[in-house]
Amino acid sequence: MNNKILIVEDEKDIRDLIIYALEGKGYQTISTDDGEKAIKMLKENKPDLVILDWMLPSVSGLEICRSIRRDINTKNIPIIMLTAKITEEDKVLGLDSGADDYITKPFSTAELNSRVKAILRRIERNNNKKLKYADIEMDLVAHKIIRNGRKIKLGPKEFKLLKNFLEQPQRVFSRDQLLDKIWGENIYVEPRTVDVHIRRLRKAITANNEINIIRTVRDAGYSLEVDV
Ligand code: CA
Repeated sequence: MNNKILIVEDEKDIRDLIIYALEGKGYQTISTDDGEKAIKMLKENKPDLVILDWMLPSVSGLEICRSIRRDINTKNIPIIMLTAKITEEDKVLGLDSGADDYITKPFSTAELNSRVKAILRRIERNNNKKLKYADIEMDLVAHKIIRNGRKIKLGPKEFKLLKNFLEQPQRVFSRDQLLDKIWGENIYVEPRTVDVHIRRLRKAITANNEINIIRTVRDAGYSLEVDV
């Protein structure tokens, strides 16, 4: 299958370089220099991946990113942000707005190709995949969670946390491990932030008559576990 990649970049040289690199690897590309057009192309062409420049003249990359995540038809499309900005704060902002990965300018075509390959491989692995533990089921394609036949809605961080736990139930994760896995390595976030999101996750997945299945392991971290 030829994956279709949308490239949104206003600098022609960089756009051409990306197109050249990706088409050389057999990907199909569509591209634009404009944010408004990008949003339209997304809806019409349903790309498998978006490479999105942060700094665009009309609508910023961040805004496009948010609008992709808000729309039910596009919210699962992976996004790689291109940025000249490299502060930690920007990284957090970008990841919070829904980007899956980052490439900092200037970048090599080898780096670009390897990031694209990694993301597409991850998506493919996740396709048709369901994670289950105890009475919880997560459908990674439909992005849905069911507990006891009840639909559960989670924020993006809580979703990632639960997914992480479901991938390795009964394993204890420290706050630092969760920060690395969910928020990303090399990003400074207060360890207590993890506690806040764990509380939210617990609250969301636990109805009044249900047991709490996210265990707090003293001085160690958290795990997904049903008492046996
Ligand atoms: Ca730009």
